[in-house]
Amino acid sequence: MPCYKAKIDWAKMLSPGSGRCVHDANAIAERLKLLDLDGADAALSGQALQEFVIAPNIDAIVESFCEMLTQIEAFNVAVEKHSDFERLQHTLKVYLLSLGVRFDKPAYFEERRRVGKAHQQIGISQVLYQCAFRRLQNLLIGFIPREVRRDEEAYDRLLKFVLKITALDMSLAVESYCDARVSGLKESLESERDETERLRKLSITDWLTDLHNHSYSRGCLSAALDRAKREGSPLCVIMADLDHFKQINDTHGHLIGDEVLRIAAARMVSGARAADRVARYGGEEFLFILQDTDLEGGVEVAERVRARLNSDAIHCGETSLNVTLSLGLAQARNSDAVDDLIERADSALYAAKAAGRDCVRVEQQYKPLLSA
Ligand code: GH3
Ligand code: MG
Ligand code: MG
Repeated sequence: MPCYKAKIDWAKMLSPGSGRCVHDANAIAERLKLLDLDGADAALSGQALQEFVIAPNIDAIVESFCEMLTQIEAFNVAVEKHSDFERLQHTLKVYLLSLGVRFDKPAYFEERRRVGKAHQQIGISQVLYQCAFRRLQNLLIGFIPREVRRDEEAYDRLLKFVLKITALDMSLAVESYCDARVSGLKESLESERDETERLRKLSITDWLTDLHNHSYSRGCLSAALDRAKREGSPLCVIMADLDHFKQINDTHGHLIGDEVLRIAAARMVSGARAADRVARYGGEEFLFILQDTDLEGGVEVAERVRARLNSDAIHCGETSLNVTLSLGLAQARNSDAVDDLIERADSALYAAKAAGRDCVRVEQQYKPLLSA
């Protein structure tokens, strides 16, 4: 017994709308020309196929074909054992009773593509489909009645039509298989791309504050430094550190400390400009990369960021905390490597701490990037 899975909803899969209409009048004409299907075939042969071969023998053809299918192991494996045999027989009947009928119309092309798609969806391979279809072709030829065979011309015409019309159906089914494969590949490419993007973001982002992380910020700084040297444009960095943060942890616990870090980070970003890059460089230490900005402009940004922190208390649940920030600035020089610049900004930060915290300090012995 042939067997299709119980869950297969053939009616839905074969319904209009489940296949994509890709054939306009030109595409149809071109395909028919390729297969040498002409007006006489459309007018006479389709009708003759139905009248002499299919309609009188429909039950026998369906039964023989189903019998043959069950002998193909790969077919049984693909569709598994299932009792919905009558439905399969019905589907086959509908398919055969429309074979070659108005084959030159878009509706025929769409319908045939849906048949291929339905088989592809239940897991029948294209090779298996083609081989089984080839057998159906033989079966149909075998049912050409004696009276037609006796008329050499009529037999020749009908035989050729069976071969051509089944070739047309097969070509449409193959298209469906290819489409399904392409859209499957597209989907998996898209999900690969999404996953790659998700991982890329994860790898450059600090888990707690959502800012850039340490290693990514160093890469950004290296690129910014190269650009500044190449273009002779100013580049400024700010190293900022929350004041007495250990006390917050010690007094209120690490979870509150984490929340303060998150809120403080958001305030720092709001104080910076859109083009400035802000990263969590260490525990409670932050790095600002200010392109096209000299020390004067950098101090403006730093003061604004400092003010964002100390202007309002940070609220974490019931707890209200006054948090301040110390900031040190340095401007890039031609001889700088990333660490030189960071080190000078760090020294300026220590100077801010030494000056009593909650203030901005600029590197000592500042030398501009360009001699001008
Ligand atoms: P200073 O003003 O001199 O910078 O004092 P400070 O207390 O801020 O500096 P210190 O280096 O003594 O302490 C930093 C504290 O930051 C200690 C560490 O536990 C805390 N810290 C670092 N990373 C995190 C974090 O991810 N979450 C929390 N809650 N605390 C952190
Ligand atoms: Mg600190
Ligand atoms: Mg620190």
